Amino acid sequence: TKPTLAIVGRPNVGKSTIFNRIAGERISIVEDEPGVTRDRIYAQGEWLGREFNIIDTGGIEMSDEPFMEQIKHQAEIAIEESDVILLIVSGREGVTDADEYVSRILYKSDKPVILVVNKVDNPEMRSDIYEFYSLGLGDPFPVSGAHGIGLGDVLDEACQNF
Ligand code: GDP
Ligand code: MG
Repeated sequence: TKPTLAIVGRPNVGKSTIFNRIAGERISIVEDEPGVTRDRIYAQGEWLGREFNIIDTGGIEMSDEPFMEQIKHQAEIAIEESDVILLIVSGREGVTDADEYVSRILYKSDKPVILVVNKVDNPEMRSDIYEFYSLGLGDPFPVSGAHGIGLGDVLDEACQNF
């Protein structure tokens, strides 16, 4: 069976943008389940001939739960259902409390986590990634989901961990 890549992170960091980039055109229809939004959350991905499933846990809305509970729940889904987790953060906003909270949950799991710093839209912004070493998840990977920059390195790393 194919390995699964899960995308985790607080709202507005660019999870859906990155999900759509990785999925390309090969996005499947989401079941209309109670409690699940109609956002596209499952797709197929492929990188250098390697096929995998992708889950955008940010599309799974649990609107009754407080904010921190929602992202905790999303991280738990990722830990249970995936082989490799992409934690998305934003180079524009820097490290937030929610980033630290979800990092601690992921750190305690045995799953490989790739720390992806999104919104690094130009080379001058690459120095914005260093503060994310404080999350304790290893080397941050700078990307721009909007411009499609840096995702190849992330997918190389993901495939090495499948
Ligand atoms: P999500 O809530 O984590 O799924 O985030 P979205 O993918 O919906 O993106 C949130 C906002 O960030 C949108 O306005 C996107 O256009 C913007 N965004 C996403 N990726 C980038 C990026 O690489 N650079 C910049 N500047 N904006 C981005
Ligand atoms: Mg989204």
